[in-house]
Amino acid sequence: DEDLALLEGEDDDLPTGAPSPNLPVVAVVGRPNVGKSTLVNRILGRREAVVEDVPGVTRDRVFYEAEWAGRDFWLVDTGGWEEKVEGIAYSVAQQAEVAVELADVVMFVVDANVGITTTDEQMLKVLRRTDHPVVLVANKVDDARGELEAAALWNLGMGEPYPVSALHGRGSGDLLDAVLRVLPKEGRGQPVDHGPRRVALVGRPNVGKSSLLNRLAGETRVVVDDLAGTTRDPVDEKIVLGGREWTFVDTAGIRRRVLQSQGADYYASLRTRAALDRAEVAVVLLEANEPLSTQDLKIIDMVLESGRALVLAFNKWDLLDEERRKQLEREIEKDLHHVAWAPRVNLSARTGRHADRLVPALETALASWDTRIPTGRLNAFLGTLVAAHPHPLRGGKQSRILFATQARTRPPRFVIFASGFLEHGYRRFIERRLREDFEFTGSPIVIGVRIRE
Ligand code: GDP
Ligand code: GDP
Repeated sequence: DEDLALLEGEDDDLPTGAPSPNLPVVAVVGRPNVGKSTLVNRILGRREAVVEDVPGVTRDRVFYEAEWAGRDFWLVDTGGWEEKVEGIAYSVAQQAEVAVELADVVMFVVDANVGITTTDEQMLKVLRRTDHPVVLVANKVDDARGELEAAALWNLGMGEPYPVSALHGRGSGDLLDAVLRVLPKEGRGQPVDHGPRRVALVGRPNVGKSSLLNRLAGETRVVVDDLAGTTRDPVDEKIVLGGREWTFVDTAGIRRRVLQSQGADYYASLRTRAALDRAEVAVVLLEANEPLSTQDLKIIDMVLESGRALVLAFNKWDLLDEERRKQLEREIEKDLHHVAWAPRVNLSARTGRHADRLVPALETALASWDTRIPTGRLNAFLGTLVAAHPHPLRGGKQSRILFATQARTRPPRFVIFASGFLEHGYRRFIERRLREDFEFTGSPIVIGVRIRE
């Protein structure tokens, strides 16, 4: 089987035990045949260029550790990615989008001899929107005569075009110098400064939301949000807890009991959804002394859909006896195993028991929600994991994970690039191990898979 032969001997594909995990990432993008692979090989200093003459031909590797002038970085060849969406071909514009998501610097390669095509234009449209530096590469300038065509690319408004010959090496040093000038020292880090974090306190009627809110606010200062005004909905409250200010969103919805007692379920759920939209983390309040209801589970589902961080708080703990406590443990195991990653706080709004544990739980959940795993560290982890637990063989073929990157935070979203379809069970396995290794307590994580053809 030719495919299989191709896949074997590539075990070094994933960077394992990467020395400096948080290296910045440079992505090489451009339409087929402009010379991306040739350029990648040039940068890696490889004489034996593994370049096919046929456009779109499968290439084996995409993710490399590179070095120039004493600086290390990850180099990504984005050619030939296929989004696994039925019937929808993976467009070059999407390729550019992915590159922008994952890279600290984008090298946009065009063929200077051909000039700008409509496909180039499509990619440019995406690249123009990014805040990250884009370095324009005018390739196939094999001699001085081509420099005029290259200079014409100034009018794209993408800054200086760097004329290079990826094939012969001409100009590649200047190009790399230019890349280093805009390359950050480290890969994308975490956002540092947040204002007051936004909390939605949600739960079905009578679980004790307004009691808890009063308990929390009673101990501190309460300020009605100026922006929201006092009469208009929704009204937020700023509450100081654990030495910092928090914004509890739509507390008017919690305090206005009329609507709830009328049993306006639909309205309540709309309101919950709106509160979640405006929040960063949700505290789902549950009643510890009563069985978990479908309404509780529905609210948890709404939080999951919203992608917000999640803390589960079991209220009315003062009413619990030993028997109910055991029963509750069983209910949690049975009905809440899909959110086993959420921190749990057992409290009593009435007595104030453990109300102070809410803050550390919120902080943990938000820290997870903000987490960004450096690309190198992620791939070192996956390399080890995948080597020990390869994807099961199907029809003599083995899907392999080529590399992964965390495309987003809040919540963390990962994109895994694979050589073939990844089975559901295998994705779940990876998610579980990601959680085990990097924790993500209190945050959902999302994993997307892209298949290379
Ligand atoms: P990709 O599809 O963008 O990765 O392009 P390739 O790297 O596969 O290159 C496509 C074709 O252009 C190949 O035949 C290369 O040999 C050729 N090519 C790449 N760079 C240069 C260059 O600088 N000068 C010339 N003359 N040809 C090049
Ligand atoms: P909301 O509808 O979710 O805002 O619930 P409330 O805060 O209005 O509380 C509903 C009822 O539960 C009220 O009678 C509260 O006094 C009671 N309650 C709230 N928290 C506790 C608690 O921790 N322990 C006990 N025993 N009762 C509580």
